[in-house]
Amino acid sequence: MTLAPTNTLIIDNAQLIGGEWVPAANGDTIDVINPATREVLARIPRGGAADVDTAVRAAEAAFPAWRDTPPGQRAALLMRWAELVEQHEKELDLLESQEVGRPHWGPLGIPRQLRFIAGQADKVSGLSLPTNVPDAIGLTLREPFGVVGAVIPWNAPGPMFVNETAPAIAAGNTIVIKPAEDAPLTPFALAKLALEAGIPPGVVNVVTGYGPEAGAAIPAHPGIRKMGFTGSPPTGASVMAACAKNLVPLHLELGGKSPQVIFPDADLDTAIPAIVTSITLNTGQICAAGSRVVVDRAVHDEVVSRLADAMAHVTVGPWYQPVRMGPLINAKQHKRVLDYVQSGQDEGAELVLGGGVPDGEVFEQGFFVEPTLFDGVTPEMRIAREEIFGPVLSVIAVDGEEEALAVGNGTDYGLVAAVWTGDIGRAVRMARGLQAGQVTVNAALAGGALVGGPFGGYKHSGFGRTMGADAVLEYTQVKTVLLRGNA
Ligand code: NDP
Repeated sequence: MTLAPTNTLIIDNAQLIGGEWVPAANGDTIDVINPATREVLARIPRGGAADVDTAVRAAEAAFPAWRDTPPGQRAALLMRWAELVEQHEKELDLLESQEVGRPHWGPLGIPRQLRFIAGQADKVSGLSLPTNVPDAIGLTLREPFGVVGAVIPWNAPGPMFVNETAPAIAAGNTIVIKPAEDAPLTPFALAKLALEAGIPPGVVNVVTGYGPEAGAAIPAHPGIRKMGFTGSPPTGASVMAACAKNLVPLHLELGGKSPQVIFPDADLDTAIPAIVTSITLNTGQICAAGSRVVVDRAVHDEVVSRLADAMAHVTVGPWYQPVRMGPLINAKQHKRVLDYVQSGQDEGAELVLGGGVPDGEVFEQGFFVEPTLFDGVTPEMRIAREEIFGPVLSVIAVDGEEEALAVGNGTDYGLVAAVWTGDIGRAVRMARGLQAGQVTVNAALAGGALVGGPFGGYKHSGFGRTMGADAVLEYTQVKTVLLRGNA
């Protein structure tokens, strides 16, 4: 099945630098494949330091005029971008499905995201400050940094691209961004629509290539004034080290090991399907995936049996079939997830469901794994502590609230946590006690239910916030001004 040529948003072998679509300086390319079928969707430039340098110069050239564009006008351009994205929403959804390999999610919600951020552009304001002298006025200004850099992952390339690009340019910065080589096509399509919307050349620059080549060149470039990164902790640490060399601030979103804490008074009819969705959506390749069920022993057996039943009904297949779960993104992730399954068994967890590759001809080409459930997991096991980024759910039994909180907080991560209870007092105590950047009560993921919720981590999940109004402020720096009249 080949739908690639019908997608008019696919851009072949060109990256966006200074408003021009150009190949890599060295002419090299990388194939982008559909991970369900291994069909080649397009070639992308294998950019490197030379391409990043050209892009940073283009972004520097575009910066002064963009900074001085009235914020209301910047907002209008972002609104126009949202309109064009809305007009192409079906093609964008198809494109992201093709490159990530997932079944259709339906509209990705990008226009709503863009409009929210556009609405913040003319609301970036400072403070008035008291002074000690009558002939002076004190105030703060929030100003853009200049050229900002960003590196994003492959799991939700469209929303990730907008999460960094929209707040950065809304605040008056220009940007050089590198999508993952596995899923760069939706970012390119979105960048094309940004140009069409009238966002000036050089404001958004997209360079592609391998992480250690093109990706590493961005934080290492002396022209970058601020950096955003989403991905794994080791790569995040290397981006941070490069930023440290140039004394550049950054924000990091490094994934999670999010607990779904279930108390005996939880409404399991709501909790079970929501938790199963949270770990199988995008084949578990979501930073907020609820990958640990921390359940009170009083309802443990019922929870495990209902989870097993619900997970067994999750249909798996390629993106063009009406299934709930597609393949993993690539061979490396496939091996990684299967290795974690092995490690769970080696460490003594009980494999209740799945754990392998589904049977059938259709699964031979792609990187498929079964929805997998482990019971009898203890907090020390690797499957309880490390981010697997696959549809693997670990159940840990606890006794009471205190232990639930300790186990819920017992990993290095702290991105998202969910609590399932009918007791409002317990909900409040857990919401305060859980060390996570986002806590949901009686919901597995905040998702589209929340408007403008900042997103980001505690502990090793990172720092800084994307998505909400704070994301725009994240891309500004504060200047203090004292205005003194003539004596
Ligand atoms: P990485 O962190 O290596 O990749 C994320 C992004 O960083 C990609 O664009 C990648 O480019 C780029 N990159 C890789 N190396 C460098 C570097 N030295 N300097 C700058 N940028 C670089 O994650 P992986 O794709 O290898 O996935 C491994 C694990 O990371 C997953 O299993 C999951 O646990 C976690 N992860 C977390 C995500 C999250 O949302 N927080 C998202 C993705 C992964 P390229 O891919 O083109 O090489």
